[in-house]
Amino acid sequence: MSAAPVIPLTSVFADTFPEMATPWRAADPPDPRLLILNRPLAEELGLDPDWLETPAGVRFLTGTNLPEQAKPVAQGYAGHQFGGYSPRLGDGRALLLGELHGRDIHLKGSGRTPWARGGDGLAAVGPMLREYVISEAMHALGIPTTRSLAVVATGKSIVRENLAPGAVLTRVAASHLRVGSFQFARATGDADLLRRLADHAIARHHPHAGNALELFQAVVDAQAELIAKWMLTGFVHGVMNTDNMTISGETIDYGPCAFMDAFDPATVFSSIDETGRYAYGNQPTIAQWNLARLAESLLPLFDDDQEKAIALATEALGTFRTRYARATIAGMSAKLGLKTDNAPLAEDLLAHLAAEKADFTSFFRRLAAGDETGDWVDRWRAENPDTEAMNRVNPIYIPRNHLVEEALADGEVRHLLEAVTSPFDERPELARYAAPAPPDFGTYRTFCGT
Ligand code: AMP
Ligand code: MG
Repeated sequence: MSAAPVIPLTSVFADTFPEMATPWRAADPPDPRLLILNRPLAEELGLDPDWLETPAGVRFLTGTNLPEQAKPVAQGYAGHQFGGYSPRLGDGRALLLGELHGRDIHLKGSGRTPWARGGDGLAAVGPMLREYVISEAMHALGIPTTRSLAVVATGKSIVRENLAPGAVLTRVAASHLRVGSFQFARATGDADLLRRLADHAIARHHPHAGNALELFQAVVDAQAELIAKWMLTGFVHGVMNTDNMTISGETIDYGPCAFMDAFDPATVFSSIDETGRYAYGNQPTIAQWNLARLAESLLPLFDDDQEKAIALATEALGTFRTRYARATIAGMSAKLGLKTDNAPLAEDLLAHLAAEKADFTSFFRRLAAGDETGDWVDRWRAENPDTEAMNRVNPIYIPRNHLVEEALADGEVRHLLEAVTSPFDERPELARYAAPAPPDFGTYRTFCGT
């Protein structure tokens, strides 16, 4: 038997921001069963993975066996959802257990909280395993993201389209501060709360920022870099509401997200995104729109003179496009194995891929392997590309939609995880994980009501 460990869980957020933190306890799962545990991440957090597999450890992972000093809370935040403002969103089915070595330990699917509105506070096994696989794939791809520590089946059925087995995801993040957290703080009218929240975000994520304006600039920069990485791997987040955009620059909330197969800027997977607001090609524009909402929230901290504050915010926001463009061009050069940036070559390629409806992921591996021909390829070859360097940045395995669906239907994600958590390292026995969806897979739709 492993002895009960000392877990130095802190409650910095809960203690510092009681205005935005509702003390709450996780629901007790009737029959908790560990479905998957991220052992390397556990070790990184100083948690003993063997202990986490014991009944007591599994109860820690569901928030029902916490160290005595823990103060789990549901966090309050606001947010623009599909452009419409909701003043009171918050953790309806989630809890912040506390911080471990400066990182948030958080639950999703742990029961209704006072922020639940009409929701049941629960989550199903399928979507939680899906978040686990996709977030760990994103991490392996070098894209900043929240991490997944474990998924525990609760033993309780939940009502979705049909009955579904319930689960709790244990998530790890640099923090859960979102654009919506600042919208919430601003809306209280409490200037001191807003300032304290900004200072907290600076200390935690952007320590080089000397004031709120520099904090805003740091978030603009982090998000421009993040969105460029999404675009370079064909990732479609699907629900870029302001409550789903972090201050740290990590990807958060894997709901209706999916990776694009055929290159098409209009790609949308989410069934409720009828206008294509969050389409692949719109993501940079939406990120900048969300950052404008952050600027509005922080405005009183920029300058006492409102006009001056607006001018400062506008100038900082305006840097998003250049920063994003620079990151994208540099990233495309890396994908093409070029030592110097060549924007026309990259732009012509994207037009070509769109016209051909080429598979965005496998194209770059095929190119490096010498399997592509044509006028554009001749122009590219004349630049003396480094094809080995290409294979270090162009993944061969991503969580393709048909593979994710297949793994979830089988209830077995381990093989897929093995492929996508070493995405650049070709293994012949994993060939089927590299192939695009079979033609009969059809149009992929994802759902928000997870
Ligand atoms: P999301 O789309 O996961 O970012 O969630 C948006 C908002 O809806 C957040 O305030 C969530 O806490 C809340 N929410 C989503 N699903 C549920 C649920 N099943 N029960 C309660 N609240 C939920
Ligand atoms: Mg969310």
